[in-house]
Amino acid sequence: MVKRRLSILGSTGSIGRSTVDVIDHLGGTKTFDIIALTGGSNAKKLAEQALALRPEIAVISNEAALAELQALLSGSGIETAAGDTAVIEAAGRRADWTMSAIAGAAGLRPTLEAIRAGSAIGLANKESMVCAGPLVTAEAKRANIPILPVDSEHNAIFQVFNEAQRDTIERIILTASGGPFRTFTLQQMQKVTPAQALAHPNWSMGAGISLDSATMFNKGLELIEAAHLFDMPSEKIEIVVHPQSVIHSMVGYSDGSVLAQMGEPDMRTPIANALGWPQRVSTSVERLDFRKFSRLDFEMPDETRFPALRIARETLEAGGLAPCAMNAAKEVAAEAFLNERLAFLDLAAIVDQVLERIDLHGTAENLNDILGADCEARRVAAEEIASGRFRGP
Ligand code: NAD
Ligand code: MG
Repeated sequence: MVKRRLSILGSTGSIGRSTVDVIDHLGGTKTFDIIALTGGSNAKKLAEQALALRPEIAVISNEAALAELQALLSGSGIETAAGDTAVIEAAGRRADWTMSAIAGAAGLRPTLEAIRAGSAIGLANKESMVCAGPLVTAEAKRANIPILPVDSEHNAIFQVFNEAQRDTIERIILTASGGPFRTFTLQQMQKVTPAQALAHPNWSMGAGISLDSATMFNKGLELIEAAHLFDMPSEKIEIVVHPQSVIHSMVGYSDGSVLAQMGEPDMRTPIANALGWPQRVSTSVERLDFRKFSRLDFEMPDETRFPALRIARETLEAGGLAPCAMNAAKEVAAEAFLNERLAFLDLAAIVDQVLERIDLHGTAENLNDILGADCEARRVAAEEIASGRFRGP
């Protein structure tokens, strides 16, 4: 039997580790040939994964960590490399399926490279779609490869979105847990610490997405991601807060039917769905036990306390490079908040300010334009933070 060739971009992160777990459960190297594993700075974790999965190459983006990676893999016969260019090169090696799980806009170029090389994509890196939806979808079409959503909401939609009945689809309903501050007042939100913001009630995730869930920028990014993945306009995508995270999202049809996908809040289910598609594969994920919860709740999101939702929808409707600029400004502000240089409510304020000031030229079909907008938004965001106009905690 010919083994499927897999690569994992961002294998040392939260999604990357869950992907390794899913692969192990399916037989690991007995079932798959692993082509590339890439990580950011954690050479130890990357080497441990490489020794178990025997990829052709293990790449660490942080060049300072290369010596450690080489020492840990010496004699293994596994190629090693470091730096952003090496990550992109590894992403472009021929694979059948690639997990795109680098955090943030840094995932865009490796994801594009994997698409161009003809690999099907398991897409966790939502920022690729947010920054470059038109480019990513056009490249995927050209390469004739599927983009299989891994983000739990989008994977849920993917499972219940009947393309053959597209004409009858009235709406997509994205569910949101509401994050750790769902019930907080604005006054309480003013004082929250990074540790509080990183403690998600239902999901265990990387720092970036955990903070994005607290501000609800995550749901804003997902709104844009959904618009591109499913080719749906902003007005047909609703957001509903569902604190139990049992229903992962829904699709509404013209006869009034609403189809939902449910499961434990465990990313191994959507990862396995994307890896197995169009078949289904087994996982060791805990099965949903309906005795454990007595009710499912739904609330409308509050854009006053979570302005990220308004900002994201505005950038989706503005189109072009606005979503990319929003994401870049948000990434810079997030880092400043985690370093205690900004207060929680300043995060959205900074992004609003950047979007007001920035002059965007070009389109989201052109990679240079996208990278230019990303860079400019980061510069303006850093300037806003340094100006001291935002009080900090
Ligand atoms: P994480 O921070 O845990 O891991 C990110 C991975 O990317 C790590 O391997 C890290 O070393 C690597 N990385 C970081 N910066 C890099 C850079 N500049 N160049 C190359 N590699 C770099 O993040 P995560 O929670 O696994 O999330 C990854 C992606 O998946 C994000 O886009 C996130 O929004 C998305 N996602 C995550 C979850 C989740 O449950 N964690 C759910 C849905 C979507
Ligand atoms: Mg999600």
